[in-house]
Amino acid sequence: MEEYDVLIIGAGPIGMACAIEARRAGLSYIIVEKGALVNSLYNYPVFMTFFSTSQRLEIGGVPFVSINPKPNRNEAVEYYRRVAEKFSLNLHLFERVDQVEKNADGNFEVQTSKTRYRSRYVIISTGFYDIPVMMNIPGESLPKVTHYYKDPHLYAFQNVVVVGANNSAIDAALETYRKGANVTLVIRGGEIGSYVKYWVRPDIENRIAAGEIKVYFQSELTSIEETAVHLKTPDGDLSIPNDFVIAMTGYQPDFEMLNRLGVRRTDDQRPAYNPETMETNMEGLYLAGVVCGGMDTHKWYIENSRVHAEQIFADINNKKTYQ
Ligand SMILES: Cc1cc2nc3c(=O)[nH]c(=O)nc-3n(C[C@H](O)[C@H](O)[C@H](O)COP(=O)(O)OP(=O)(O)OC[C@H]3O[C@@H](n4cnc5c(N)ncnc54)[C@H](O)[C@@H]3O)c2cc1C
Repeated sequence: MEEYDVLIIGAGPIGMACAIEARRAGLSYIIVEKGALVNSLYNYPVFMTFFSTSQRLEIGGVPFVSINPKPNRNEAVEYYRRVAEKFSLNLHLFERVDQVEKNADGNFEVQTSKTRYRSRYVIISTGFYDIPVMMNIPGESLPKVTHYYKDPHLYAFQNVVVVGANNSAIDAALETYRKGANVTLVIRGGEIGSYVKYWVRPDIENRIAAGEIKVYFQSELTSIEETAVHLKTPDGDLSIPNDFVIAMTGYQPDFEMLNRLGVRRTDDQRPAYNPETMETNMEGLYLAGVVCGGMDTHKWYIENSRVHAEQIFADINNKKTYQ
């Protein structure tokens, strides 16, 4: 069985930051990733622009140079791949972690889709992008419904409903509108989300004011059929013709996996951890990155969770000193 000091689950930006810190601490490590490098970013919309400046997305002290202050998805994927190359990160891609167990000797045994590893420490940096928050309505599983919007061209000259009020929904509504889609936004609350990028907000507000994008506030989809969707609105139920539904209803961490790994949760369902060391209830098992927020997926992002890597390795270095 292969043995490492540290096994990192997930090769997102924060898992990579942890690997760089492990390398700097002179520890052996492996990153096990179920998809491609930075798999979540790889699956973002092709024309997506980050709300952060490129400097705030940097890891390992490697400068992230972008043409505009806010980089786009393609630049970010390129940047993180170059960082992985620079540090020759020990990556095992397309290998899923299924189970983590602690042995009596304090080491972890990690079962993946390919093999088994032994490791002194385990870091869970699995993000939240793999599981969409479902609307749980009839028709949601039809092929015309997506929770992962990718590229606007598909929707040209089609009747498109976009569900949601935050960045992903507003970007999808504007991009598809500009490729000739007939766009209707369905928003549960009474306004455009407060997190919407400040330079995008006037654009969507003006498109709505001009009647170019239709919006139903305080409304919900109740069912989806092949050629129509049904909505509940403050003015009553209605049906509108529809070809595609882009459901930007958010995402959630893999709670089932956290349970399986033995991570305790707080009353509000956040994974429990020591905020100074990032260690969970199980000694040697750490959390890093956006997974820490539980259902509050706006709490952590790359900008403010990069620091988890340093916190974790400060704790591991401490433990090594006193062992
Ligand atoms: C559309 C969008 C725009 C955003 N814009 C910004 C921004 O401008 N600035 C900012 O700071 N943040 C932004 N964020 C948030 C941030 O980009 C992401 O949440 C970021 O990817 C978090 O990094 P992470 O390493 O914690 O998790 P992720 O990047 O999600 O990485 C987790 C990795 O773990 C892997 N994984 C999961 N389960 C397993 C398993 N069982 N075994 C092996 N591997 C597994 C996944 O495949 C994934 O690659 C944005 C998020 C979204 C969705």
